[in-house]
Amino acid sequence: MPLPATRLAAFSESVIRGMTRLATRHHAINLAQGFPDFDPPEELLSALERATRGPFHQYAVTWGAPRFRAALARKITRFTGLPVDPDQHLVVTCGSTEAMMVAMMTACNPGDRVIVFSPFYENYAADAILSGAIPIYVPLHAPDFGFDSAELARAFAQKPKAIIVCNPSNPTGKVFTRAELLEILALAERHDAFVITDEPYEHIVYAPHEHVYCASLPGAAERTITCNSLSKTYSITGWRLGYVHAAPAIIAQARKVHDFLTVGAAAPLQEAAVAGLELPDSYYAGLRDVYTAKRAVFLDCLRRTGLRFTEPQGAYYVMVDISPLGFTKDTEAAEWFVREVGVAGVPGSSFFREPEHRFIRFHFAKKEETLRAAGEKLLKLADGEWVRKHLPARV
Ligand code: GLN
Repeated sequence: MPLPATRLAAFSESVIRGMTRLATRHHAINLAQGFPDFDPPEELLSALERATRGPFHQYAVTWGAPRFRAALARKITRFTGLPVDPDQHLVVTCGSTEAMMVAMMTACNPGDRVIVFSPFYENYAADAILSGAIPIYVPLHAPDFGFDSAELARAFAQKPKAIIVCNPSNPTGKVFTRAELLEILALAERHDAFVITDEPYEHIVYAPHEHVYCASLPGAAERTITCNSLSKTYSITGWRLGYVHAAPAIIAQARKVHDFLTVGAAAPLQEAAVAGLELPDSYYAGLRDVYTAKRAVFLDCLRRTGLRFTEPQGAYYVMVDISPLGFTKDTEAAEWFVREVGVAGVPGSSFFREPEHRFIRFHFAKKEETLRAAGEKLLKLADGEWVRKHLPARV
């Protein structure tokens, strides 16, 4: 039998998606793969019903249905202040996952270097390998996951073609400040590199932190390739709607990559999602409040376990330090959490370049009742006797 391509040996299937399958098999509460267990806004649901009866069952324009792109352009301008021409600045993709792959294949030649902060969202390593790029990892340092300016400057000295910035950050919950983004941009400008940003959590940011759109900073528009998604903002992760937003010369190339990768995102879903893009500002304020409340509930549950964790500034992930439990491998710990505790998370090592086994990532994009049920189960960890009885013998 012929062998598959060797580049595929360099990465494995997604650990995040694998944990979802394990959680389902063991009936654990799934706080691993980040997606809500509550419905999207009613406006989207009724628009979806209407779309099923409309003329939207064949291919949309490959780079995005015109009505969807126009609404998207207006929404981006509303929040970033940038003028957005729907025909020149946007490609609609199947989620930010495809947007990132399109951005990488548009920006990089095989052999180009790309700076990736570690920990990082697990797709980025695969994106780099599939696009032939070589990652340069720059650590984000716990507990607040900031970067070291000298380390970043040294990475830029290796002449990367691009840097990937996930902001707000998955898995750390870090929200990059204006000063940090300006520092990244200044280095990118000096070394003529692209800044590829991944911003699906733009509207899930906790006070006093604020999301700064990299593309909106002075001089940034021409080198910033923004990848984004409607998944988290409108609770529609299954709709697979995302986009790349960049300068016209970049988009002209990105359209080609997208066209041959997927042709296009689902036409009826683009039609229905216009209702989301047209929601008033109060929707986004409400979303922030809802997630602020969920964060409070979940962090309170975690506090009662006695384990330490990082408080996210944005997004909906928490890195919990499980080192007191004594596991040498976090993958074993994550399996133990599914089987014995009844709550699924993602082993932190799948996000780190370094051999880091201290963390499990949990997310709180769940109904309050789900979070409280998970909290009940996690509370077992506060009971030393229960833990001793249930830990595997060799831990
Ligand atoms: N972004 C989500 C997470 O990190 C979901 C990832 C996915 O499966 N596409 O869990």
